[in-house]
Amino acid sequence: MAEYLAKLEKQFTITPQRMRMIVDSFIDVLDRGLATKGNEVPMLPTYVFGWPTGQEKGSYLAVDLGGTNLRVCLVELEGDSKFEVTQTKYRLTEEQKLSDAQGLFDFCAECLDNFVSDHFGDDDGKVDLDEPIPVGFTFSYPCEQDRIDHGVLIRWTKGFGAPGAEGEDCAALFKKGLEKYNVPVKLVALINDTTGTLIASAYVEQATRVGVIFGTGCNAAYMERVGNIPKIKDLGLPEDALMAINCEWGAFDSTTHEHLPRTSYDIHIDETSNKPGEQAFEKMIAGLYLGEIFRLIMCEMIDEGILFLGQETYKVEKPFVFDTAFLSLIESDPTDELLTVTGLFAHFFSLDTTIAERQFMRRLAVLIGTRAARLSACGIAALVSKQGLMDGDDVGAEGKTIGIATDGSLYNKYPGFPQRLEEGVVDIFGEKGRAIKTYHAEDGSGVGAAVIAAMTKARI
Ligand code: ADP
Repeated sequence: MAEYLAKLEKQFTITPQRMRMIVDSFIDVLDRGLATKGNEVPMLPTYVFGWPTGQEKGSYLAVDLGGTNLRVCLVELEGDSKFEVTQTKYRLTEEQKLSDAQGLFDFCAECLDNFVSDHFGDDDGKVDLDEPIPVGFTFSYPCEQDRIDHGVLIRWTKGFGAPGAEGEDCAALFKKGLEKYNVPVKLVALINDTTGTLIASAYVEQATRVGVIFGTGCNAAYMERVGNIPKIKDLGLPEDALMAINCEWGAFDSTTHEHLPRTSYDIHIDETSNKPGEQAFEKMIAGLYLGEIFRLIMCEMIDEGILFLGQETYKVEKPFVFDTAFLSLIESDPTDELLTVTGLFAHFFSLDTTIAERQFMRRLAVLIGTRAARLSACGIAALVSKQGLMDGDDVGAEGKTIGIATDGSLYNKYPGFPQRLEEGVVDIFGEKGRAIKTYHAEDGSGVGAAVIAAMTKARI
């Protein structure tokens, strides 16, 4: 086992020097995405213009289709950077993710309809409003937009694959569902969760410069000067205007595989996924995949007669049964004997573990979790450098924080993930990197959708 661990340590450790090389190539790829359409990292214009003031007000609905759950929220923006959120979550089935797109959007409309009846209806659920309620639709898949209430799906990610959506305007598909159920709402904005997180965070924290999601998938957004986005030059927008860019950075290094230190496990995940050859960066970082990387390593060691000797291992040999939440549990086990790990393997996989095996598991979780954080730090460093935020002598001076707003279970629940991210950034930039602070944006996608809906209404 010790030999195996040494081999894995070598494969999964990313040195500061390697990180800096990744950052440099990342910046090139981001620039290319801004220059022309159809690049690996598409750098999608969102038609969300500029920062919120924090004074936006009103009641908005937000529908969030982003990965594991569908959420419907009522967001009350109160101004003065204050808000209230009421939400209901609906679990999506694998079937809904993979069969008939219109059915999926109809389901979103139906859930919204029920939510509106519950919150705005009379005792019989009948709703009678003077005007339709504005809805922001957080649809967290790469979409090509040419205005805010429209978005053509480039490709499904994060295990989704419902036919009939790719190449189609998903705002229109959702609107069709809304008409079918006659929901008294008006879709005003289609946004990505990264943009939502960026804007929701900026509503309460002015230091925010980047929004990053660490959930089922991994992606980032930031605010760019229109003059720096050559591919939309023809629109004739003022050069100094600011527009949020949804990077879709999960696609980094998917075409050439030149920059990321992919292991045989990463390659296996890619080749057996429903979207091989896509989202190379995301597949090394996101919640959907970290548990599976861990499991693949265990399976290899079972095959080689190193782990769980003489036991029935079929339960752990099923793809994707090892949730990333298990890595969190393993890393946070407070006991010397690693009793939580004992319980986890016994309960979920009917496997007995030796203390040596459990210590190995803990080390393995640290390797996989740390690699994910350090790769993410490279993406953050690239975006921060690109914006010139590390230039100048006063970087890191008192009160000069560069804020990275985040959301997602990996960031919120994986022990030590935020610290590893920030250490990674310091490994890249040296002490200057301490100016970069990450924090959780409360309910990024819901509040962001509401703030963007409010900003959009103000522009019309
Ligand atoms: P979304 O699907 O909207 O991105 P989340 O942010 O909750 O939702 O991310 C879900 C992902 O987070 C899943 O892939 C799941 O495996 C992972 N996850 C859930 N709980 C934890 C945890 N405690 N630690 C690490 N990852 C987790």
